Amino acid sequence: MMQSDFANKFLQHSAITELMDDLNAGMQGDGMLMLGGGNPAQIPEVATKLKAHLQQALDDGSLVQSLMNYDGPQGKDSFRQALAALLSQQFDWDISADHIALTNGSQSAFFYLMNLFAGTSADGVKKKVLLPVCPEYIGYGDLGLEDDLFVTVKPRIELLPERQFKYHPDFDKLPMDHSIGVVCLSRPTNPSGNVITDQELARLDRLCRDANIPLLLDNAYGAPFPNIMFESASPIWNDNIVLCLSLSKLGLPGARCGIVVAKPEIINAISNLNGIMGLAPGSIGPIVAQHWAATGELLTLSEQVVKPYYQQRAERAANWLKQAIPDPRFRIHKPEGAIFLWLWFDELPITSRELYQRLKQQGLLLVAGEHFFPGLAEPWPHCQQCIRLSYAGPEADVKRGIEILARTVTELYGNS
Ligand code: PLP
Repeated sequence: MMQSDFANKFLQHSAITELMDDLNAGMQGDGMLMLGGGNPAQIPEVATKLKAHLQQALDDGSLVQSLMNYDGPQGKDSFRQALAALLSQQFDWDISADHIALTNGSQSAFFYLMNLFAGTSADGVKKKVLLPVCPEYIGYGDLGLEDDLFVTVKPRIELLPERQFKYHPDFDKLPMDHSIGVVCLSRPTNPSGNVITDQELARLDRLCRDANIPLLLDNAYGAPFPNIMFESASPIWNDNIVLCLSLSKLGLPGARCGIVVAKPEIINAISNLNGIMGLAPGSIGPIVAQHWAATGELLTLSEQVVKPYYQQRAERAANWLKQAIPDPRFRIHKPEGAIFLWLWFDELPITSRELYQRLKQQGLLLVAGEHFFPGLAEPWPHCQQCIRLSYAGPEADVKRGIEILARTVTELYGNS
């Protein structure tokens, strides 16, 4: 019955759907240690502020008023205005509400944007999405309406003291030519926690502008909110940058509120797509975020509560890991941001997919590394040697998970 090209494309196995299914099963309490998915922590201060504002919006009638009306296809006007004012005041960006569109989660914004900028055009030319550093977010991999939409190149690896390492873009290898429709980068990067430096980002921005290729910056964990970044890194925006933000990692994934900041021509395209696909984005996230934008709490909550919370958790989890797995072949990507640790087991005698299966049998869910290299054409053993661990859940679970992982990997290394 469902035999269209669309059905063929979207009914096949998808890594991100499997991940979200696993996450949901874990939430229903099937006893699994869920260190796999991207669910953010429930930070008590954020929950308190959320409850207080929802109560206030209930009391003053604005919540009911909002829920009983559709917003426009570009998203709630009052939130877009408040956010534009905040961003232009704080960062001197020349933007108004016309530069902002909302989507139901930033995931759907990526679906729109990647297919707007990449794919085959009427003259038969196919353009691709260039991921300038891999590994890169698992959720991009299945977004293309056309197959084979991504291209990436191996990054440079810098080995750091204390068994850490860091990825850098290999600028000499980036194919910045007519075959590329858009360049996309998550900063901090999911899965690695890498924050490419301000200098590297400035260079990438310049390369994109020179080649007239838009730069899609995914700041789902980054600046200016939720700002889960432990290195100093500045937010940037200009006419060639499409900045995607989200309320999810601030602590509101259920609100499904994504935010796109871009020149009005791109915003109009998003608005059109919103209208066709879903009439209008949901309004519950914007109700809360409008208040936090007007008071500046979007930024202060991020800086004073969310960032230190995760920074402390990252440091503790990294230390437990290094103590539990003393083997020198084990390294951690320098935790610079996001809510994950990216673990590299050099010379691992099995693939990370097999490691994932063995851990799952013992009640621990992580995410195998090989899903995070969409578009990498050359074989690279490194892709099968890494695994992603989320440290956002309860610390007792993180500790138990690390024990299981350490036991399994130590046995594998011992036998190799
Ligand atoms: N970008 C990155 C790097 C992510 O990790 C996620 C979610 O985990 C998203 C985008 C999408 O988030 P949302 O659709 O909740 O805004």
